Amino acid sequence: MNPLDLSIVIPIYNEEDCLPFLGKELKRHLPPLGLSYEIVLVDDGSKDNSWEIIQDLKSQNPQIRALRFKFNCGQTAAFAAGFQAAKGKVIVTMDADLQNSPADIPRLLEKIGEYDAACGWRHKRNDPWIKRISSKIANAVRNRLSDEDIADTGCSLKAFKAEAIKSLILYKGMHRFFPTLLKMEGYKVIQVKVGHFPREHGESKYNIRNRVFASFKDLLAVRWMKNRKISYEIVEEDG
Ligand code: UDP
Ligand code: MG
Repeated sequence: MNPLDLSIVIPIYNEEDCLPFLGKELKRHLPPLGLSYEIVLVDDGSKDNSWEIIQDLKSQNPQIRALRFKFNCGQTAAFAAGFQAAKGKVIVTMDADLQNSPADIPRLLEKIGEYDAACGWRHKRNDPWIKRISSKIANAVRNRLSDEDIADTGCSLKAFKAEAIKSLILYKGMHRFFPTLLKMEGYKVIQVKVGHFPREHGESKYNIRNRVFASFKDLLAVRWMKNRKISYEIVEEDG
């Protein structure tokens, strides 16, 4: 059913400048793992030349599979489509912009087995100060309101047992809550420190309005789900 060891799922929206570098880095770091793997590139309705470049990368690397949305549906939708398509026993997610390095993938994979998910923690953030501060506040508020202790939920570099991440029912914005949603289902999650680098090409798709404010609404939904999660123990069953 899961014929491959590993699927790397990467959402892409208008990343034409990053993609050639991403292709090179994946080619450099994945083969030495000695695993059977595929790379699932999900073009989230890019309006630039991303799809053409993805085709080009695909012709140079048979491990690449590509999906293209008709229009921009958001990062969670891109992840969801990638998870659905993935054939690996383990799924690794990362961004296309190389702010994380595929060189850190083995450190996450080491934890899969004992844990169901290993989530990257950008302990030395390399982002503009406004982003670092808003992210710090957002993480603190999120942890407080959802009774969590996750240092960094926004890091896309994560590894999951496929059956765990595929079991989640996803809604827009929920990619920021994968660790909490998994824990709610009883899965074991660990955080692993990973490198973080400045975005060298292209630009961030998020700003204060579409990240902090939008994700606050999502946080309230997750908080509600967590508080209202049903749990029961059957002490006896007769017939
Ligand atoms: N992305 C996407 N759909 C969107 C927005 C972003 O697929 O609607 C992708 C984007 O191309 C990148 C990843 O999601 O690969 C994270 O986006 P970005 O790097 O802009 O976010 P940041 O790191 O600045 O939070
Ligand atoms: Mg980024």
